[in-house]
Amino acid sequence: MAAQAPLSVRRVRRTGLRTKLFVALLVTTVPGLSVLGLYAHQSAADLIRDLMVGWWDGRAQLLARTMGEPIRMAADDVRMLAQTPSVTRLADGAVGSAPRATGVVEDVRREFEALAARRRNYRHIMYIGPTGAPVVRVDPAGPWGRGSGSGSPVADLDRGLLDRMRDLPPGALYVSDLRLYRAGGRIEGPGRPSMRFATRVRSASGQPAGFVIIEFDAGRLLSGLRSPDPGVELRVLDAQGFYVLHPEATAEWGGPEDRNTGTGIAGEFPPPTVERVRMPLPAVIEDAGRIVVTQPVAPFGPQGTQWRVMLVARSSLIDERVAASDFHRGFVLVAIVCSVLPLAAGILLIGFFLRAIPKLQEAARAVAAGDLSHRVAIHSGDEMEDLAQDFNYMATRLAEYGQLERAIALEKLKDDLIHMIVHDLRTPLTGILGTLQTIESCDYDVEVTRDLVPGARRASVTLMGLINDLLDINKMEAGAMELDVARVDTTAVVEEAVDMLRPLAEDKGLKLRLLECEGLPPMEADADKLRRIFVNLIGNAIKFTPSGGEVIVRAGGGYDGQALHFMVEDTGEGIPPEYLDRIFEKFGQVETRKAGRLVSTGLGLTFCKMAVEAHGGRIWVESTVGKGSTFHVELPERPPAPAVTTGEDDHVHQAP
Ligand code: ADP
Repeated sequence: MAAQAPLSVRRVRRTGLRTKLFVALLVTTVPGLSVLGLYAHQSAADLIRDLMVGWWDGRAQLLARTMGEPIRMAADDVRMLAQTPSVTRLADGAVGSAPRATGVVEDVRREFEALAARRRNYRHIMYIGPTGAPVVRVDPAGPWGRGSGSGSPVADLDRGLLDRMRDLPPGALYVSDLRLYRAGGRIEGPGRPSMRFATRVRSASGQPAGFVIIEFDAGRLLSGLRSPDPGVELRVLDAQGFYVLHPEATAEWGGPEDRNTGTGIAGEFPPPTVERVRMPLPAVIEDAGRIVVTQPVAPFGPQGTQWRVMLVARSSLIDERVAASDFHRGFVLVAIVCSVLPLAAGILLIGFFLRAIPKLQEAARAVAAGDLSHRVAIHSGDEMEDLAQDFNYMATRLAEYGQLERAIALEKLKDDLIHMIVHDLRTPLTGILGTLQTIESCDYDVEVTRDLVPGARRASVTLMGLINDLLDINKMEAGAMELDVARVDTTAVVEEAVDMLRPLAEDKGLKLRLLECEGLPPMEADADKLRRIFVNLIGNAIKFTPSGGEVIVRAGGGYDGQALHFMVEDTGEGIPPEYLDRIFEKFGQVETRKAGRLVSTGLGLTFCKMAVEAHGGRIWVESTVGKGSTFHVELPERPPAPAVTTGEDDHVHQAP
């Protein structure tokens, strides 16, 4: 099996998935929530705006009614007066040539005075004859004072008015334009405009006679009007589009009749706005950065004389009010809360949904570390639970496969071992058997026997070594290796091992040399095991070195308490680095070398390692593939106490 690089387990805590889910959450929710927020923001603004404009409209209506009421009343009053019996009697007198009855005049005056007492905004109440001659005049307030007959009221009536009234049928109403009251050609004062309501009197005999005229003090009415909102201007327009009431009206402003100096809507607003304001309908107009709310004052009279109440605000006033409004702020706050809360909830939910991941990571690491019994417990009822179940199933299967693989490997090992033992035991045995047969068949000829016995001895040694290795390892696995320690002539042991193997080396065409080994200090050791260590190492060197190569055994150290250092060098095929540790394990061959088939036990180095370590030493190897290997053995002068001395030795001992 090819060697695999160890799995590197990443320990960095990653948050990528969390971030991606968070981004997905943002991408999917924020635009919608923003639109919702904007919509809420805009709706609140629109609502406030509608409320404000609606409120102004309502106030304008109220103002229009407030103004319309006294005007309508004046129109009714003038009609009512024209029909009172005293007035019609006076008209009779005026029409006929009968001398004027002073009593009737007084009756009429009393009638007029009674009305004037009720109506504080009537400047004059007059009766004039058909030619314009004044007959009765009451001035409830004004420069002439109550009942004053002085001055020339008719002179105050412009000629045009008289002309217009002449064609007026009895009962019909004439309403003048708003006019300034002039006394002796002098404007009485700014902001004190008046209106005239006139009707023709039908005499008791049914003839058209003189006129009843009420001069209505519009200034008094107008000065009582106030804007309903500090940010909004109140204006009143007459039918011609001139301002009757305007916040900029000053002493110089002559009022509507003084049109050269008067202020009109046409000069201030563009034509479309002026058109719409002139229409006899209520209107809300946005134009030139202003909002104009108009309400017609209730129409009256045949001329359709009509005033109009106008409220004018800067458009930006609405934005300012919207911005300052608590209601709006509340709406915006709700929009923000509606955006932030779902986001926060989303983040919490993401954390909640991903809480299973650390458990899965922990389980994966445990399995990677070899704990195939580790299981994950996730009961989230979602895909995470599925994943955990799949993971647990995988771990179960891995454990099963592991057992199976181990069983297969063991089976193969057993087969290989049997094959090897059969091969390794049979080969030397065949040699020994052959030798014995030959000796027998030559009737124990001395010459022949002398020739053949060394070979049979070598084969026996090999067999014995193998059997001893197996026995030793078996014993060593059961407990500590038992050493039969005695004082050993180190050089002799090494030479013995080399001598044993020299024929093998020569057969293979190898040079086997022993260097720097003379006069080595003696050591306390198990001589048999020591020899087998060297036999194993030198045997391997011969086995894995092709003919023509060289095997060198060296030794050094061992003086002044120093450890003895042995080296077995060869010029063989070498060992790949990844096998350097494994070859010391039981059955640890460089497998690829023999195409997966064992040809040796792989027990020799295992024995060496155990034996060296039992002596308190160490063994290691340096090797370069294709160049050769050097096995190092370091042994102390004596093994660490307590050295165990065997009472009994079940080893097969070689013949001396
Ligand atoms: P065996 O030699 O019976 O296989 P060992 O435990 O002695 O068992 O050796 C284990 C393995 O180590 C050998 O199979 C061989 O692959 C490798 N090995 C041992 N010594 C050498 C050497 N000198 N040169 C190359 N390979 C070696």
